Amino acid sequence: MIPASKRRMTLQRKIILEEIEKVNAHPAADEVYELVRGRLPKISLGTVYRNLEILSESGLIRKLDLGDGQWRFDGNLKDHYHVQCIRCGRIGDVFCKPCEDLEESVQEKTEFEILSHRLDFVGLCPECKRKEEQQWQD
Ligand code: ZN
Ligand code: MN
Repeated sequence: MIPASKRRMTLQRKIILEEIEKVNAHPAADEVYELVRGRLPKISLGTVYRNLEILSESGLIRKLDLGDGQWRFDGNLKDHYHVQCIRCGRIGDVFCKPCEDLEESVQEKTEFEILSHRLDFVGLCPECKRKEEQQWQD
């Protein structure tokens, strides 16, 4: 049985999905637009935006807000966290066990029923860290 979201998959949507699944860079909408233009030269940015919404609503991609003012899109549906470099903006995947004890302790402290959590890491990527260290040596 094919899910409804796949049944109504248009060619444009299929290509957008393929391009997002291909990259590891967590592109923003305008970057997705650049990625698909090679295969769909006539596509508009508006169409890309609309299809990104549909794909994330259907759960085929993840829509990320890493606090840098733009939505980013991830084709990896496995549970994972993200780490972003404060210098170059690069985003990496963090695969580790979901912090369930964190949810428990927040629940105890706040008496909220905690359903899920959002957690992002920030830091310096290896390349920016190396550049920083070189600067101090010069
Ligand atoms: Zn960096
Ligand atoms: Mn990711």
